[in-house]
Amino acid sequence: MKYISTRGQAPALSFGDVLLAGLANDGGLYIPETLPSYTKEEIASWASLSYQELAFKIMWPFVEGEIPADDFKRMIDEAYSSFNHTSIAPMVQTGNNEWVLELFRGPTLAFKDFALQLLGRLMDFVLEKRGEKLVIMGATSGDTGSAAIEGCRHSEHLDIFILHPYQRVSEVQRRQMTTIIDDNVFNIAVKGNFDDCQGMVKTSFADQSFLKGAKLGAVNSINWARIMAQIVYYFSSALSVGAPHRKVSFSVPTGNFGDIFAGYLAKQMGLPIDQLVVATNQNDILHRTIAENDMSRQSLNVTLSPSMDIMVSSNFERLLFDAHGRDGDKINDLMQRFNQGDVTLDDSAWQFVKDNFDSYKVDDEGTCDVIANVFSETQYLLDPHTAIGLEAARKCWKDKSVPMITLATAHPVKFPEAVEKAGCESPSLPEHMKDLFEREESYDVLDNSIADVQQFVADRI
Ligand SMILES: *Cc1c(COP(=O)(O)O)cnc(C)c1O
Repeated sequence: MKYISTRGQAPALSFGDVLLAGLANDGGLYIPETLPSYTKEEIASWASLSYQELAFKIMWPFVEGEIPADDFKRMIDEAYSSFNHTSIAPMVQTGNNEWVLELFRGPTLAFKDFALQLLGRLMDFVLEKRGEKLVIMGATSGDTGSAAIEGCRHSEHLDIFILHPYQRVSEVQRRQMTTIIDDNVFNIAVKGNFDDCQGMVKTSFADQSFLKGAKLGAVNSINWARIMAQIVYYFSSALSVGAPHRKVSFSVPTGNFGDIFAGYLAKQMGLPIDQLVVATNQNDILHRTIAENDMSRQSLNVTLSPSMDIMVSSNFERLLFDAHGRDGDKINDLMQRFNQGDVTLDDSAWQFVKDNFDSYKVDDEGTCDVIANVFSETQYLLDPHTAIGLEAARKCWKDKSVPMITLATAHPVKFPEAVEKAGCESPSLPEHMKDLFEREESYDVLDNSIADVQQFVADRI
């Protein structure tokens, strides 16, 4: 399988190169040159597979040629061995034909574990084969940092540096990162805000000379391997409610458009998906784009669903590529127009987007109402992101005979503020995290200075 850039200027690369590169050197994002597609009969024949077996079937065409089958199977088994439910991604029924797909059964209690548990292992394997090392640098305001650290901690060929804003992440989120003590894990608390941290990472990627020859790798959702791993649970959940013999719909709490883009790919690969619902909080650029063709950037709102607090969704470019007939020159033009302040798509591109997605936006008050109502009706406690997903599902659902699956992206214990504002009691930590508040922590506090941060990294690789 070859991968091409959405901006059409960078060379096509193999899976291993794309895995280590992250962003393409023309500023675009990598996507497969062609997608495998499956008939109803083929998909139906997967119904009795375990999650791990299904994961192998679905991801194999994307990695074939780079990773031997037995090694890939072992990596998949290891990646999902730390999940605390045997079906890995269990489903819970919350109403008639209405389901919640629990994607928070991994080590850090958010769906990002699905991809990052595998990503660390894939990177380590490719680096070992090539005799290379990679330095991971990332900024986090919460979930990504802990999931990335958990995914990379055992990698022999990776050093991981995660920047978080000092005293501006919740204690659960900080401790999920800082209590992982390994030789290759470095937590840096920067005396600044999240944008300062992200700015430092961006600058470091653009000029890597401070690394004295080492290379930087990306673990955010621009990395193709993350999208790939997320395709699997669309198939597993759909199969469990009767697909491919019937259609299914999905609602997805959306930030950077990575998770729901995986659903779009599942549909391209033959899964009969009726609706894909983009659920946003008040940071609603995607909802505005889909509903009104308005892609203008607005200032960032801090909400009760912080993992969806984004101004611009980076993975949306992957969809726009398809919406413009996979013409990289058109995407190049479009990005230039965006930077000059034009914020609309042409009619055919907008129509393409509308044909594939529905959308809905939920504010903080609405989020708390959903958490409270669902809890009082069913005793099931939603996290704020999932609550937004479920509300959007109910508002956009066109055909009630089609099962509607909402992706539950995090465990409610991670977001006590929203749960308590909804008048519910925050649940206790799951078994494997019971002693989180007693564990030893390790992190360094640095000034809001890129020179200091880069020196810190250079001294430790
Ligand atoms: C990252 C995250 C999201 C958003 O996912 P995208 O792939 O960026 O759209 C939603 N919910 C939770 C809990 C997350 O951690």
